[in-house]
Amino acid sequence: MSEIYDDINKQKDIFLKEIKEVKNVSDLKTIKSKYLKVYTKDLYAQMKNIESAEDKKQLGKAINDFKKYIEEQLEILSNNFNNDSSSAVKYDVTMIKKNIFIGAEHPLIKFYKKIEKVCINMGFSVVQGPEMELDKYNFEKLNIPPHHPARDMQDTFYVTPPSVLLRSHTSSVQVRTMEKAKPPIQIISPGTVYRVDDIDPQHTPMFYQVEGLMIGEKVSFSNLKAVLIKLLKEVFGDSTKVRFRPSYYPYTEPSAAIDMSCTECGGSGCRTCGNSGWITVLGSGMVHPNVLEGVGYDSEKYTGFAFGLGLNRLALLYYGLGEIRKIYENDISLWRQL
Ligand SMILES: [Zn+2]
Repeated sequence: MSEIYDDINKQKDIFLKEIKEVKNVSDLKTIKSKYLKVYTKDLYAQMKNIESAEDKKQLGKAINDFKKYIEEQLEILSNNFNNDSSSAVKYDVTMIKKNIFIGAEHPLIKFYKKIEKVCINMGFSVVQGPEMELDKYNFEKLNIPPHHPARDMQDTFYVTPPSVLLRSHTSSVQVRTMEKAKPPIQIISPGTVYRVDDIDPQHTPMFYQVEGLMIGEKVSFSNLKAVLIKLLKEVFGDSTKVRFRPSYYPYTEPSAAIDMSCTECGGSGCRTCGNSGWITVLGSGMVHPNVLEGVGYDSEKYTGFAFGLGLNRLALLYYGLGEIRKIYENDISLWRQL
């Protein structure tokens, strides 16, 4: 038995010397055949003479290890030839295939684009705004004056207190847009927002939001319902059920929280939905008259609605990922499955 192992080691040494002499793809083919076909075939033939099952098993493993070693070395050599434009034959069709993965969009971006597409089809245009924002646009003009208790709902990172901050929602873009343009307005504003929050399975201090705004004459709560039901059904499927519940936001009146049927259990109740069958996915409402008047609109003439959704949270539901941090861990093997 030991002679065979000695011979394998000897052949390895000879192989290492021989590959130094390889000059072209043809040499490579010869050496490949010598070790991976002829010699290993001979080794397998010798296995027949071994009686002990354990010895057979060990030798089988040694042969496989030897083959793997030879294959790896030849692959490295083969790659060198491919990168070397001076080699006589540039492409070796017998070369061992390497898995090559092409870069792709992050699943969060892919998911956002789905939402964006549905909104654009409904007539919305996309508007971006600054992430470092003035208090005036993030709070005051959204009917949240200083010391208003609603400020506690969104713990804010201040850059220069009290006037400059990192936006805690993309509603600031809505105010900037309304200041510049007259109705009708129909926009979505996607982007990153920041809130002081400890990292846990459902929270991170920075996340993505998409907010929508529609202002015009006779824009009603029915329009709001129609747009959001359409949005959720288009993204999550036609069988998705949607319900509206009374809620409170300082910049909308009346306000509604929107639940959709659980993506995990379809409404029968599970851990994801806390056994209720419903998951809250959006905040919305009719734009508060104070907000409209604040940007110089006649609130008797114009009405409108606004909505906001947390993109990360919706993406978790869409992809069936349990924890928000998975979105940032960039686990390539997970992304390739999505
Ligand atoms: Zn559920």
